[in-house]
Amino acid sequence: SEKETFSLHRLLEEIIDFLYATIVDCDVNISLAIDESIHIFAYKDQIRQVVVNILLNSIEAVKEKEKPRRIEIVARRQDADIIIDITNNGPAIPADIVETIFEPFFTTKKLGTGIGLYICKNIIADHGGDICCFSNANRTTFSIRLPASSPF
Ligand code: ADP
Ligand code: MG
Repeated sequence: SEKETFSLHRLLEEIIDFLYATIVDCDVNISLAIDESIHIFAYKDQIRQVVVNILLNSIEAVKEKEKPRRIEIVARRQDADIIIDITNNGPAIPADIVETIFEPFFTTKKLGTGIGLYICKNIIADHGGDICCFSNANRTTFSIRLPASSPF
């Protein structure tokens, strides 16, 4: 498929609908704060894959902690970029592995593959953006920066 211009808010709503059964099953509260005017020019299926990967990781993370379980998705414009922050209140990622989690086949899960974040990083890099992670005892955030309209 081709790159296209689409509403980020609408894509996120679709993804949350798609994950609805998993979200209910985990008893996690997901909030979405995205200006409806934010549009990006990108491979929509690839951006969907990135967000689904990060949300599934976030759901698995919050399951490790007692309730309330929260995931917050916030997007904003910053100059020519769109910043998408996906935050959960699961356990912290130790500082010594917070960079390593993006490497292929790195996993801390019994049944993990360790390819999810590696794929995310590559997809975002192919779009001329980047992705990073901040984590402390209260919250873990995956922050995606994407050019609002990619020149690639
Ligand atoms: P997998 O999910 O198969 O383990 P990923 O590449 O998706 O592979 O993630 C790699 C590792 O990064 C995970 O095993 C986990 O240790 C860590 N990780 C990813 N997302 C989170 C998160 N939201 N909270 C805590 N740890 C995370
Ligand atoms: Mg994963």
